[in-house]
Amino acid sequence: MKTIGLIGGTSWESTLDYYRLLNQGVRDRLGGFHSARLLLSSVDFAEFVSLLQSGDWAMLGDRLAVEAKLLETAGAQVILLCTNTMHKVAPAVQTAISVPFLDIRSECGAAIARQGLARPLLLGTRYTMESDFFTGHLQRSAQLQPLVPSLDDQRVIDRIIFEELVKGVVLPASRAQYLAIIAKASKADCVIFGCTEIGMLLTQADLVASGLSLPVFDTMKLHVEAALAFALNETSLEEKP
Ligand code: GLU
Repeated sequence: MKTIGLIGGTSWESTLDYYRLLNQGVRDRLGGFHSARLLLSSVDFAEFVSLLQSGDWAMLGDRLAVEAKLLETAGAQVILLCTNTMHKVAPAVQTAISVPFLDIRSECGAAIARQGLARPLLLGTRYTMESDFFTGHLQRSAQLQPLVPSLDDQRVIDRIIFEELVKGVVLPASRAQYLAIIAKASKADCVIFGCTEIGMLLTQADLVASGLSLPVFDTMKLHVEAALAFALNETSLEEKP
């Protein structure tokens, strides 16, 4: 089993899910007392939120590159950045290390394309929805035509992430707001939970219960599955350069 390196704390609420699902995944596959070989560098989220708010992407990339290098030096054989938003600076992280970097966007795009779907509605932070580092990647890597909510709805989604979910606050009223926004996306054929905390608020079952038939792609869960496959040698190095 390979050692998985996680850059987490972004936020720690969703890093908990990564930790739990990676360990459960190894136990389910190997049985007995098996658990995941993990190294976690859990950052102080406040420092990174300030960099996001000031738009200092260069510094954000430098800081994350340091964390990635730290994990590699400690023995990580693959690196995961446990946030969608910060994949905006994925190239800075990737070039700092010589072990594979599992890009959350690639895993998501590939999963959607495998299902024969093409027009995902992307939900995430405003950074993720408003710039093209996520949608452009989906277009290039999986030939998808992603959609994003209206600017007003982007503000609602972003506010709920930063004022509630990253603080562990899960409110039924916010769930209803997300469902109402998804219901407006008549051209979409699926939904991306493009923020690692959205799964705390909303599930596929919530969509079904409110009459929405769109399949959900939760980036946090897809990222975990990709890491498990890689760590347990279900995926070859050639497939994950
Ligand atoms: N975890 C979030 C994401 O997946 C948002 C918090 C952050 O800015 O990293 O985008």
